[in-house]
Amino acid sequence: MLKKKKSFVTYTIIVTSLLMAAGVSGLLFIQNSLIKDDMELMAYEMLTQDVRQARKYIRYDAEGNPYISGDFDSREEDSDDDEYIWIFLQSNEGDIIYGTVPEGYDSNPDKIGGGTIGIKAGGKEYFAVVRNGRTNSEKVNKKSSYKICALVSKKDMIQNYRELRYKSYSVMAIVAATFAIFALVLRRMIADPVKKLNNSIKESVANLDFTENITYDGPFSELDMLVEANNNLYNRVQQELERQSEFNANVSHELRTPVAVMHAQCQLSREIAEKNKDPEMIESIAVFERQTARMKGLIEQLLQMSVLDRDNVKIPMEEVDLKDVIESVCDDAQYICRKDIEFSYDLRSVVVRANMNHVVIVVDNLVSNAVKYSDNGGKIHASCGENEEYYYIEVSDNGRGMNAETKNRIFESFYRGDSDRSTEGFGLGLAQVMKIVKFYGGTIYVNSMPGEGSTFTVEIPVNGKKED
Ligand code: ADP
Repeated sequence: MLKKKKSFVTYTIIVTSLLMAAGVSGLLFIQNSLIKDDMELMAYEMLTQDVRQARKYIRYDAEGNPYISGDFDSREEDSDDDEYIWIFLQSNEGDIIYGTVPEGYDSNPDKIGGGTIGIKAGGKEYFAVVRNGRTNSEKVNKKSSYKICALVSKKDMIQNYRELRYKSYSVMAIVAATFAIFALVLRRMIADPVKKLNNSIKESVANLDFTENITYDGPFSELDMLVEANNNLYNRVQQELERQSEFNANVSHELRTPVAVMHAQCQLSREIAEKNKDPEMIESIAVFERQTARMKGLIEQLLQMSVLDRDNVKIPMEEVDLKDVIESVCDDAQYICRKDIEFSYDLRSVVVRANMNHVVIVVDNLVSNAVKYSDNGGKIHASCGENEEYYYIEVSDNGRGMNAETKNRIFESFYRGDSDRSTEGFGLGLAQVMKIVKFYGGTIYVNSMPGEGSTFTVEIPVNGKKED
């Protein structure tokens, strides 16, 4: 059994998109950590600068309590950032001495220390810089009784990187769109021609017709090589098929006369034996006669098939009504078969220009196979008609059906299904049908499931008939 394989194009697209996703995630990760470091650094610089500035404006009221003079707010801002900075003073015990604090701010002195730290207040995160209180004119007083605090919301800081983020997402969207276009183009350039190639090979194999070479005019040399190798194979197979049919024609031609003479002699011998009333002789000659009749039938069938391969033979054409042929063949089949089989029809009168013998051979083979491979109580349905493109004949049965292997080989000369060797036949009927259908430029399809029955459909193009 063939393992189900993935499409090369799908595989390439999946692997490339996984690689791209990994690459983009890596880049985003690097970008995010760079942003994080940069943001912390920026916050630290900004807050320390503000603390430094605030220090310049620290004054003490009459009771010695520190405050930041109003000049601090009205000083010229040299930054055009739009994040809000909270600047306030708090006592070492945690009382807010001056300024406003963000909502939910916990002034517990254990929670803040020196350096840049992260603080949570009211569910929001803040960067904070906290320094011991003093003015610029004072000396560093480690025992200062208050702290200068500067806070900025992380969310506000992130806003500064919004543009960078937008740019990254836009680049990602452009890369993804380019990749989607690349995937479509790749599909067009590789998957579609390979699919077409595959369909045309399948069609050639199904019709046993290797006369038409496959063409590929795309840009890929690998596909060119594949097509060339396939065409070489086609030519070889075609040569073999022609050699085989030439061999069949020669052998059957050589055997035709001796077998006809043997058959005539059999008949004569039987008449003599009957006259002499010799039952043993009659029985022996009957066996001989049956076998020579079979051989004669086979040779005739092979000769008829070889006629279709010759270009210089003129085949007489006439107006044939498919409905009439199907009705009469089915009537005969029903009469001859010793089985209880129910026939049903959906026949439209369709007149085609064809060789009467050819039409009879096609219909007879399909109907007699349907009878042969159905058991007692079976049902056979025959239909014919036409549409804008083709004439069709369809014969279906609910008989034994075929497995996939048999279905693939039934149009080969002398092929017989494994379980059908006990039934009469040479395995030539469907090969002959295929040859005739091809002669008229048509196609034959089979639909079959083991145990459920088979449907054979012949389609002949309305404009594809050969004229005499
Ligand atoms: P033959 O009938 O002489 O064997 P054919 O060329 O007509 O030769 O058919 C080839 C094979 O196709 C048969 O041996 C049989 O296995 C299969 N086959 C054809 N028609 C049917 C059918 N209606 N139902 C099942 N199998 C079929």
